[in-house]
Amino acid sequence: MLDDPRPAAQRARAPRAFVKSFGCQMNVYDSQRMADLAAVEGYGEAATAEDADLIVLNTCHIRERASEKIYSELGKLRELKDKRGKVGRRTTIVVAGCVAQAEGAEILRRQPAVDIVVGPQSYHRLPQLLRAAEARSGVVDTDFPAEDKFAHLPPSAPAAVARRGVAAFVTVQEGCDKFCSFCVVPYTRGAEASRPVESIVAEIGRLTKAGVREVVLIGQNVNAYHGLDAAEERVGLAALIARAAAVPGVRRVRYATSHPNDMTDDLIAAHASVEALAPYLHLPVQSGSDRILLSMNRRHLASDYLAIVDRVRQARPDIALSSDFIVGYPGESDADFAATLALVRAVGFASSYAFKFSARPGTPAAEMAGQVDDTVKAERLAELQALLEHQKQTFNRACVGRRLEVLFEKPGRHDGQAIGRSPYQQAVFAEAPLSLTGAVAQVEIVDVRPNSLHGRVVSPASQEQDLISRAG
Ligand code: SAM
Ligand code: SF4
Repeated sequence: MLDDPRPAAQRARAPRAFVKSFGCQMNVYDSQRMADLAAVEGYGEAATAEDADLIVLNTCHIRERASEKIYSELGKLRELKDKRGKVGRRTTIVVAGCVAQAEGAEILRRQPAVDIVVGPQSYHRLPQLLRAAEARSGVVDTDFPAEDKFAHLPPSAPAAVARRGVAAFVTVQEGCDKFCSFCVVPYTRGAEASRPVESIVAEIGRLTKAGVREVVLIGQNVNAYHGLDAAEERVGLAALIARAAAVPGVRRVRYATSHPNDMTDDLIAAHASVEALAPYLHLPVQSGSDRILLSMNRRHLASDYLAIVDRVRQARPDIALSSDFIVGYPGESDADFAATLALVRAVGFASSYAFKFSARPGTPAAEMAGQVDDTVKAERLAELQALLEHQKQTFNRACVGRRLEVLFEKPGRHDGQAIGRSPYQQAVFAEAPLSLTGAVAQVEIVDVRPNSLHGRVVSPASQEQDLISRAG
C-alpha cells in the first residue's frame, strides 16, 4: 500500500463534508440542510470536493444539460475516490436531488463509484444512509415518506447560519400539482405540500438570532402555500408573509417562485400593506402565445397575466417584475414567438430568465409533434435575451439618482467597499464599513454597470436600530 501523501495534521483531522448545489433555490436550501445533517454526524464543512471525505452532489433535472453535467462531475469524483482508495482513505459520494429521484439505481449502474442515491423528500435520512453505506455499497432511497422531513432535520448551527450570510432561504412549500406539460417537478418533487406556519416562524426566529435579516420564502409553487396555523386553520402565503415580517430582526421578506393562477387578492394586497415585503415579484409566464400556454397546460391566457401585472402595479407601483420564458416549445411558430416578444414589451421586466425548451423524458411535451429545430431555438433565445437585457438596463438606469434602501451583505472587491442588495434585488456596491454588514442603509445610486448599481451611503440611519434588534 502507498503512504498517505497528506501532511500528518490533515491525516488526523475530523472528516469534512462538501455539498455542491445545482439548480434552483430549493436545492440551495436542501444543500444547507444536508450540511447541517453532516455536521451532526461529525463532519466539518469543506470548501472543495478535494478537501472532503463526504461529497454530496445535490442535483437538478429541470433541463437536459443539468443532468449531463452531473455525470461528468461524477467521472472526476471517481478518479479522486480511486486515488484516495490506493492510500486507504475512504471517500463517500452521494447523489441527491432531482436527478437522484428521477434516475434512482440507474445512477449506480452508470457510475459505480456512487455510494448513496437519495431523493429530495428523503434526505433527512442521510445519517442512516451513511451507516448503511458503510456495510454495503450502492444504497438507494427515493421514497416519498409519510413522515415530516422538516421535523427530522436538525436546526442549523448559528455559526453555519452566520457563514451563509444575512439573506436566507426558507422552504415553506414543496412539490407541485400543476403538471405543466414541459416540467419534471411534479414527478421529482411529488405532490404539493406546505409546512405548518409555526415551524416556519420558529426557523426564521433561529435564523434572525444568528444574524439573518432577509428571508426568502421558497417553494416550487410558493404562492400555492396553504399551511396549518396554530389554530389548525389553513392559511395562505399572504398570512405567512405577515407572520414572517413580524419576526424580530427580519428587515426584508421575499418569496419565489409563483404561478400566475395563485396570485390571490390578499397576496397582491400584501405588496401594499406589508412594509418588509420587497417590491420584487418573480412571476413566470413562459410564453406570450395563448396557443402555446394552452398546450403547456398553464391554464391562463396572456391577457390574464397582463391583468395580474396591472393589479400588482396598482398595489405597488414601483414593483420590479421578473419572469421565466421557454422558447422553442413544440409547435411554437414565428407568430407565437412574436407574441412572447409583444408580452415582454407590454410588461417591461426588471430581470428575467429565458431557456430553450428541453425535452424531459416522461413529460407530455417531450412526445409532442412539432419539436423545434435547435438553430431556431438558439435564434429565438438570443433575440429574447437581447430584449430582456435591454429592459433590465433600462430599469437599472432609472435607479440612478434615487435613494434606495440597501441591505449590506458582504465585503466588496476592494478594501472599504461593501456589496448589498436593493429592494429590487439588484447588487449594489458602495464605499461602506464592514460594520454595516447586516444593516440597511440609504444609498444614493450614482452609476450603473452591466450587472450592478454603484452608490454612496447617505444615511445608515437604520443601523443603530438593527444593532439594537440584534442585541435583543
Ligand atoms: N413553478 C414555476 C412556474 O410555475 O413557472 C417554475 C419552476 S421551474 C423549476 C423553473 C423554470 O425552469 C420554469 O419556469 C421554466 O421556465 C424552466 N423549465 C422547466 N422545465 C423546462 C424544460 N423542460 N425546458 C426548458 N425550461 C424549463
Ligand atoms: Fe413545473 Fe412550475 Fe408548472 Fe409546477 S407550476 S409543473 S413547478 S412549471
